Amino acid sequence: MNILFDNCRILDGKGGEIQQGFVAVKGNRISAVGNAQNAPKPVADEVIDLRGQTLLPGIIDSHVHLSLNGEPDPMISFMRDNDFIIAYKAARNAHQTLLAGITTVRDLGSPKDIGIHLRNAVNAGIVPGPRILSSGRVICMTGGHGWSMSREADGEAEVRKTVREQLKSGADVIKLMATGGVMTMGVEAGAPQFTFEELRAGVEEAHKGGRKVSSHVQGAVGLRNALRAGIDSIEHGIFIDEETVAMFLEYKAYLVPTLSAPHNILKNGLKSGIPAYVIEKTEQVAGANVESAKMAFHRGVVIAMGTDAGTPFNFHGANMKELELFCGIGLTPMESIISATTTAAHLLGLEQELGTIEEGKLADLIVVDGNPLDDIAILQQQERILAIMKDGIFYKKQIG
Ligand SMILES: [Zn+2]
Repeated sequence: MNILFDNCRILDGKGGEIQQGFVAVKGNRISAVGNAQNAPKPVADEVIDLRGQTLLPGIIDSHVHLSLNGEPDPMISFMRDNDFIIAYKAARNAHQTLLAGITTVRDLGSPKDIGIHLRNAVNAGIVPGPRILSSGRVICMTGGHGWSMSREADGEAEVRKTVREQLKSGADVIKLMATGGVMTMGVEAGAPQFTFEELRAGVEEAHKGGRKVSSHVQGAVGLRNALRAGIDSIEHGIFIDEETVAMFLEYKAYLVPTLSAPHNILKNGLKSGIPAYVIEKTEQVAGANVESAKMAFHRGVVIAMGTDAGTPFNFHGANMKELELFCGIGLTPMESIISATTTAAHLLGLEQELGTIEEGKLADLIVVDGNPLDDIAILQQQERILAIMKDGIFYKKQIG
């Protein structure tokens, strides 16, 4: 089946903009891109006229938790729900994410191997969802941040073994906890957790297996440990200073600030049922999160879009909010779209297949009513996401 999207504004995901362009899709790949003036249009079985609308690459969210549901105290669901219910809810969350125009996610931590099995179920066509790269279980020190959904490990040898276990289970990426965080009771958000040596051991094992490593980091000491250990992406990255900015650039690490997480916690507050310790810790770090991201961006650190969806009131399907928050720290709408397309594809190691609208890439595309460069917030209005295609298949089609 050949499809031709015609007469559209194309944002190609790497900063280019084509007016009155066309994109041809053959099977699951983009077979031609051009504009009416300079290239002959391919013949197609179906021609879809997109006058006034914008075609973008499918959006990539580099940090979600499909097994969490955005409840005020998300960890409670692990005590209340059995594994089957957690998995059904994760499948629902995956579908909601896809229907928001998010065609690829990195699931950075789920209990058991639910994230890995959900990825397999989506790949097998059993349930609809975005393309998932799963870390499987998070790896933390005993009693460390996120322990209730993690595999605990202490010392270099145990971290090595645990990373190997995750690779054996089929993890696409490894997640290590370098510091405490706001969602775990009794754990100080900025305190270092895994040591440099433990992080280094984990990175070595993951890289040997050809996998990248992400690390939850919310403090200056943890940042230095993680960057020096060769972590590929720093999640949250709170308390970035001059020294750590220089290290980001030296080690070519990505920053995924997840501004949506503290934003939604503080917006909803104590009355919503979010535990008091979460609010208190968020109040301590939220300002630094924004300032760190702003400073890092202006100093040239590469920033990828990720939401931490699943944390309190940070609902699956509301992922596009992060792009607006990025514009609030100084990114242009185009830069913010690039962070969720080309940049995120590079972070995931999928830059050959995804992230841009180019001949030969997989056909992950969304059609938006209007121009997100004029107003980035329109991406949050699901009625304005008129079509969603993943791997050449429409999951929404209100066009043509
Ligand atoms: Zn997270």
